[in-house]
Amino acid sequence: MLRVRNLTTRFRIDRGAITAVNRVSFDVDAGETLAIVGESGSGKSMTALSILRLIPNPPGRIEDGEILFDGLDLLKLSDAEIRDIRGNKIAMIFQEPMSSLNPALTVGLQVGEPINRHGGAPWSKALLAARDLLGRVRMSDPASRVNAYPHQFSGGMRQRAMIAMAMACQPRLIIADEPTTALDVTVQAQILDLLKDLALRSRSALILITHDLGVVARYADRVAVMYAGRIVETAPARELYSRPRHPYTRGLMASVPRLDSDTHQRLVPIEGQPPNLAALPPGCAFAPRCRQAVDACKQAPPPLREVGPRHSAACIMEG
Ligand code: ADP
Ligand code: MG
Repeated sequence: MLRVRNLTTRFRIDRGAITAVNRVSFDVDAGETLAIVGESGSGKSMTALSILRLIPNPPGRIEDGEILFDGLDLLKLSDAEIRDIRGNKIAMIFQEPMSSLNPALTVGLQVGEPINRHGGAPWSKALLAARDLLGRVRMSDPASRVNAYPHQFSGGMRQRAMIAMAMACQPRLIIADEPTTALDVTVQAQILDLLKDLALRSRSALILITHDLGVVARYADRVAVMYAGRIVETAPARELYSRPRHPYTRGLMASVPRLDSDTHQRLVPIEGQPPNLAALPPGCAFAPRCRQAVDACKQAPPPLREVGPRHSAACIMEG
């Protein structure tokens, strides 16, 4: 359904440019959940925003690549055509729902808006559909909530309203960018369970962006691990958990509690600083933090190579 090839997005900064998304390639099939994982600043959000062509220009620009969505290259569409895809065929859910909800409009008007705009339904019908959607995202008393304003909602309820908005036009692809980071742990699980359930029922593909490997284990089919703008490892979720091959992936795993382990493991944070994209080393961007790094790692960035079935890693020590 979605096929991203060599996606490259750069930002102009004071002196020169930084590559926030660096030759990124991945596929997502219908009904599949792809998790994009990595520390803050690794390029996850810019990858998502590039797919929807929402990169602020200037200072940003998609410089290269192909984004094939049902065979259509999104990078070649006119502005009007990509606007029609957004919120209609591809929906995005952001981390902070308050920044995407309009405080001056009722939740019903906002959830109904895409149905009215893209679906061409009259407002009376769109509002009924909105009420129905609020019920589907398991909000209690949807008939009165439809007339409420965002500030009357808790964080979890706002995120449910965002999911209802995203589902309104039955999108083929949902991109959720750290959708639960601002919520407490129990609400997080409820929201992610809901999102996964709705995506499965409608056979929508889901791209779940997170820095939380626990989320990955529970919800993702495939995983792409990003570091300094590149995908450094990609594999089916189970395979990645049982056989992580890139030292960065192993470092991430050692630094978070594992749900599947009953032994008391000691958590080991990854040493060193996250990379500065404005001053990347000539070789592997992870080499300065990598215990296994040898001289050859400092020569050129290692390519992503196949290391197993549907499993690739960008490390010269592997494969
Ligand atoms: P993530 O979502 O993984 O935390 P982002 O995709 O938001 O990271 O950002 C990746 C990198 O893109 C950042 O480290 C930053 O250097 C760069 N970046 C993002 N937005 C801008 C901007 N408006 N101007 C300059 N650089 C930016
Ligand atoms: Mg982000």
